[in-house]
Amino acid sequence: MAIDRASTPCVAQFTFDPSVVDFSLPHPTEPRAWNIKSCCDIPGLETRLTRGARPSMIETMDNPVAAEHIRHVTPDEAAKAAARRRRAGEESSLSVTRRARKIQRILAETYPYAVAELDFDDAWQLLVATVLSAQTTDVRVNSVTPILFATYPGPQDLAEAESESVQEIVRPLGFYRSKARSIQALANRVVDEYNGEVPGKLKDLVTLPGVGRKTANVVLGNAFGVPGVTVDTHFGRLARRLGWTTQEDPVKVEKDVTALFPPKVWTELSHELIYHGRRICHSRKPACGVCPIADLCPSYGEGPTDPQVARKLLAYELKPGREELLDRYMNGATRRELRAEGHTLSA
Ligand code: SF4
Repeated sequence: MAIDRASTPCVAQFTFDPSVVDFSLPHPTEPRAWNIKSCCDIPGLETRLTRGARPSMIETMDNPVAAEHIRHVTPDEAAKAAARRRRAGEESSLSVTRRARKIQRILAETYPYAVAELDFDDAWQLLVATVLSAQTTDVRVNSVTPILFATYPGPQDLAEAESESVQEIVRPLGFYRSKARSIQALANRVVDEYNGEVPGKLKDLVTLPGVGRKTANVVLGNAFGVPGVTVDTHFGRLARRLGWTTQEDPVKVEKDVTALFPPKVWTELSHELIYHGRRICHSRKPACGVCPIADLCPSYGEGPTDPQVARKLLAYELKPGREELLDRYMNGATRRELRAEGHTLSA
């Protein structure tokens, strides 16, 4: 591959020679010139191209790291699959199950780094962080919990704390009075009834103040290793778009979705679907044109199908310009490590 940098600092011209680079797609049959904005700042691009990253994918996604690792579905393939599905009418339950499992495998490959986005060291911290995350973002909760847990490390400390002081710490999250009240009531119950230990059973967790089924499943799945599906707003929306359920009620969504998958994938499926909902399958404008499961989704076309338009909707580490962050995730960096390195993990 001949690389010929143009004189403009942030624009380079790459010339691909197919006799040197095997692109594995029939795409460039001729050596071709290709302009990439800001390519001087794209780490590892040359290596990726030399290893055979597909230029058609890189062209349709401004983030070349994402382009290399995300499954690429052409608009034509996706449109044909959607038309086939419409012609076939209602799918059999076996077909829905097979399709759902295939989708899960692709999402697992797309987001191998998907984990709970709330920071925690133990079940108590996760329980408190999840209760605090109501009506705010995980990023905001993660900015508050280090101070909260440094000041009041365990349930006993929080139960005995001055309520004004707790309110002051959680103030950035909004609804700070009721949030402070909730977590102190939670601390009291955990101390009084469970000897300061978070119970590891759904039936006990849901009796704690401020803890519903969603919070209980988050704690069970991520702190106790008990499989659970977390039906939040993203999960519910995607499960409906993917044709896994028609229900709106989270408990019914959970029932329909858990019937499609073995328990061992429930927790990771929750993370993967939530990641997909935050990064690609947005509520208002899903980025269908760059979606790795476009040919398996009955709702393909709810958002822009033109890849050039869709790629502008990508968020978080898939966004153009965030190649370094995605690369670090793909190489196993944790969210805390990334923050310590100065990366911003919000959209
Ligand atoms: S982005 Fe579009 S194609 Fe992908 S899952 Fe969402 S609705 Fe379906």
